[in-house]
Amino acid sequence: MTSNIEACREALAHLDLDCNVNTVQQKSRDFYWYSPILKEQLGHITADFVVAPRNEAEVVEILATCYKHNVPVTTRGAGTGNYGQAMPLFGGVVLHMKHLGNVVAINDDHFIAQGGAVIEHIETSLRAVGKEIRLFPSTMSSATIGGFIAGGSSGVGAIRWGGLRNPANIRRLRLVTMEETPRVLDLVGEDISKAAHAYGVNGVIVEVEMPADPSTDWVDVMIGVDSFDNSCRLALQIGEDATIDKRMLSNFESAIPMAYFLRHRRFFVEGEALLAVTVSRATVERLVEVVEAYEGARIALRYDQLEEGLKLPAAFELAWNHTTLRALRVDPTITYLQMLVPRPVMFEKQAEVKARFGDELLLHYEFTRFDGVVAPVALPIVRHTTNERLEEIIQILEQELGLPVFNPHRVTLEEGGMKKTNPVQLEFKKQADPKGLLNPGKMIAWDNPDWVPVAGKTYLFAE
Ligand code: FAD
Repeated sequence: MTSNIEACREALAHLDLDCNVNTVQQKSRDFYWYSPILKEQLGHITADFVVAPRNEAEVVEILATCYKHNVPVTTRGAGTGNYGQAMPLFGGVVLHMKHLGNVVAINDDHFIAQGGAVIEHIETSLRAVGKEIRLFPSTMSSATIGGFIAGGSSGVGAIRWGGLRNPANIRRLRLVTMEETPRVLDLVGEDISKAAHAYGVNGVIVEVEMPADPSTDWVDVMIGVDSFDNSCRLALQIGEDATIDKRMLSNFESAIPMAYFLRHRRFFVEGEALLAVTVSRATVERLVEVVEAYEGARIALRYDQLEEGLKLPAAFELAWNHTTLRALRVDPTITYLQMLVPRPVMFEKQAEVKARFGDELLLHYEFTRFDGVVAPVALPIVRHTTNERLEEIIQILEQELGLPVFNPHRVTLEEGGMKKTNPVQLEFKKQADPKGLLNPGKMIAWDNPDWVPVAGKTYLFAE
């Protein structure tokens, strides 16, 4: 199948096109450089040109034209994805969602927004009418809602509502397919999983409908705790305490806040683990009561009692993958991992991790709700030495310690996820993208449905 880029560019010349080599390269990148492995593999990647549709009809036109000329299309929100998700591995077109940024409607219990709407804009629009978004990534100031659904997984709010996989958290996705005559589909119920967390390989999300909840006045509170284990115990207690309304619950080994949270560290004490809680103003005093009764814990900082004139980044901008960002700003050799630490064995497993890796791996958990149960998701910081060592660490975690790693050093859906192909998304792709032109190279199942993972080997970049 040969692409005819020139004919495609000419046919789309009346739209908002960017053909400047430098800006096209910029728009072909995401936060892949968080990974030293992806940094080596993807640095040269660039699209042929960028096109930014102004409405749904233009999305349809772009996809039909690219289909006709066999040109790959990679959709881009804000490019804050971490795994090269938004990078056009096989060149072609980057479809930039920047003009599709409107909040379309706010109703009693939900909102409708275009796929390129920046999440902070959605939250501000909701707050203006006494509502709030349920779940957002810590990149909410720039990330788009379509990019969050297609590329993200969880975030602030997950301690109340679970992650994006919770069916209650997405009500409808409006999707344009990539066929000779593209279809515009409204996916609801179980069908949402065909396109959610699919890296845009199954269509372009042009509109989303998601729940909106009554707004709460939130306050960030930082708690110093004498050990990481104790900060975990306190997090579980707060997580399960129905008298404390919280939006975020994150904890960090002591070395992280002292070394990397530069604007906050004067509030911390050397050797103390940090527990960051976003709590409702109505229940903040109840939180304080619980902390004061907990041996070894103290309130280090309350955002509702900041000294006058002091402005600090929101707690969520220390948490989720912002922890890695803050660490990288201090030490560019840092990288990170994402893994599940099953709650029933979490204390035993974290002791094994520390015994095995010491300070090479610093623990950081985000507490979320899985099927109603509070449990940690780990985003540890890794002090990186070589890529071989990084692969070895992942193998030890998975194979010797039994901890599932969602590998952020891989560009494919499968390797970064459950290490197996997703038959529902594969079947849908056959209908929605029969030529395999949407974000090619990201779904192993499309090229090789019988793939099985080989430890330490990357699918696309195997030597
Ligand atoms: P992009 O990076 O532009 O795209 C992500 C993927 O979605 C790509 O595969 C792209 O092709 C596809 N895509 C984008 N828009 C569409 C569309 N309209 N239709 C179809 N496909 C589309 N992730 C979390 O889940 N939770 C976090 O808390 C979080 N924190 C982060 C913190 C930092 C500092 C960084 C760098 C990343 C973080 N991420 C987090 C990852 C990322 O920010 C989120 O996934 C974010 O929501 C992506 O949005 P985006 O608009 O930047 O998407």
